[in-house]
Amino acid sequence: MQEPSNFRQLCAEHRIAVTHQRQVLYEVMQGMEGHPSPEEVFDRVKEKVPAISLATVYKNIHLFMESGIFRKMSVHHGSVRVEMNSEEHHHMVCSRCKSITDIGEEELGLTSRRRRLSGGFLVERYAVDVIGLCVKCQQVVS
Ligand SMILES: [Zn+2]
Ligand SMILES: [Zn+2]
Repeated sequence: MQEPSNFRQLCAEHRIAVTHQRQVLYEVMQGMEGHPSPEEVFDRVKEKVPAISLATVYKNIHLFMESGIFRKMSVHHGSVRVEMNSEEHHHMVCSRCKSITDIGEEELGLTSRRRRLSGGFLVERYAVDVIGLCVKCQQVVS
């Protein structure tokens, strides 16, 4: 977990104002893994700042993601998720329970990445979603 002074520095770098709520939110998010939704973050933050509202948490998570402090996961699975893994990676998404698991580039065989694609499309980054059934959901099926 980062020290409060680092959060101030981070806010200065990303040009957002430091508030107590943002600092607590940031600290709570630092301690989370995977791809939490704003609701999951809210549940944790509430324990420390009971007066905080879900709307405030939403607003500040969006601010964190827009300013680049946290990365946004691709959002076409419904709700917004925050990406806690800063390494380049892709996702295995279960079509049944919607669980999301990180997967490395090597395993997908995506190590040779082209910077330009057909029509001159310039690649910023690759984010591949592999859709399927997780181990738990496979057991339910059989
Ligand atoms: Zn599943
Ligand atoms: Zn991820």
